[in-house]
This record gives sequence, C-alpha cells and structure tokens, in this order.
Amino acid sequence: MPLITCPDCDKEHSDAAAACPNCGRPLHATAATQGHTDGSYVTNQGTGKALKLQSLLAWTLIIVGFLIVMGASGDNTGDTMSAGTVTGSAAVLIGLIWWLSVRIKRWWRHS
Ligand SMILES: [Zn+2]
Repeated sequence: MPLITCPDCDKEHSDAAAACPNCGRPLHATAATQGHTDGSYVTNQGTGKALKLQSLLAWTLIIVGFLIVMGASGDNTGDTMSAGTVTGSAAVLIGLIWWLSVRIKRWWRHS
C-alpha cells in the first residue's frame, strides 16, 4: 500500500484512508470533485435550457420580422422601403444573428 504525505501536517499514511488520521484533512478530493462536477453539470443543464429559450426567441423574432416584411411589402412604393419593411428586415437580421450566436455557443460548449 503506497504511503502519501498529508499536505497539511506532513505525516505519512496509507493512501487508502479517506482522511488524514492525524489532522482529518480529506485525502482524496473525490467528494469535492464530485460536488464540482455535479455543480457544473447542473450549470450546463441550466445553460442548455437558457440557450434553447434564446433559440426559440430568436426564431420568434425571425418569424415576426418576416411577417412584418410580408405585411409591409404592400405599402412599398417603387424603390423606397417602408418603415415596416426596414423594421421587419432588422428583426429578421437580429433574429438570425442571435440564433447563430446561440448555435455557436452550443457548438462551443459541446466541442
Ligand atoms: Zn494530516
């Protein structure tokens, strides 16, 4: 059984012990690591939900913008775009950029 030195009290003891018999320092950071892993897992789950919601909102923006453009297209006179077309186009553009950023964020997390 290999011996390890406690970083707190510098006493040697078996690495099978969960905690230092001298000072009680937890030797294997498994509990702490586990907690951290669980915490980040929960965070990832939360982020995933937030990203899904953002993706949904971005799609809503694209669709609403598209509908505004469709509705305003009748108002267009010649080459001049109506305020509705500009607003709708802007909404579609923002929605697309938003959706893309969500996609990139998701890809970044998963790679
Ligand atoms: Zn110790």
